[in-house]
Amino acid sequence: MTVKVITVGEDILGANEEKARNNKSKLDKYGILTINIMSSPGAGKTSLILSTIKKLRKKVRIAVIEGDVASSVDAEKVNALGIPVIQINTAGGCHLDANMVEKALNDLPLKDIDLLFIENVGNLICPNAFVLGEDQRVMIASLPEGDDKPYKYPAMFADTDVILLNKIDLQPYLDFNADNFKKAVTGLNPDVTIFPISCKTGAGLTAWFGWLEAVVRDKKKK
Ligand code: MG
Repeated sequence: MTVKVITVGEDILGANEEKARNNKSKLDKYGILTINIMSSPGAGKTSLILSTIKKLRKKVRIAVIEGDVASSVDAEKVNALGIPVIQINTAGGCHLDANMVEKALNDLPLKDIDLLFIENVGNLICPNAFVLGEDQRVMIASLPEGDDKPYKYPAMFADTDVILLNKIDLQPYLDFNADNFKKAVTGLNPDVTIFPISCKTGAGLTAWFGWLEAVVRDKKKK
């Protein structure tokens, strides 16, 4: 007797991609630049979003979708800044999908948004496989995670548009080798843009803000 193989993953991903295309058309219609932010837990996704809101909120109308397995602690921090935010709790799920984002979009004031951050669930594996309708994928890697992570989670590093290398203020206390990290990353993804930053000290953030303002402007022109 032959073993029957059911490829559930392909069906799920196919349906997800169709939903993601619908999300993208909707976001395009409103000229909203959408960024899917991915990283391991604790790398600094929420810190980056909060720093960016504080810096750009007078020039750019920002909204946030927060993805977490549980709780709304990150969404509350965004809400405290007076920024529209929707919390998605995945109830154990290790990633966001396009269906969840579609529901969140229904509750956001789309005509009043220039830039939408989607903070994915902290995980270096599953979020990579599920497109959401984003324009740009931004990944945060942080020094305490080690410089070998591109070798261990290659798909995540290969498929991202930008890598923010966070917590560079901790370099004196760590063995992280930035040259080894860059070599591993560019081997997987030669076109990626890397910004070394520290959300704690603000180092390197000016370059990130500049990049972000430019992509938001470009989206408006389309
Ligand atoms: Mg967070």
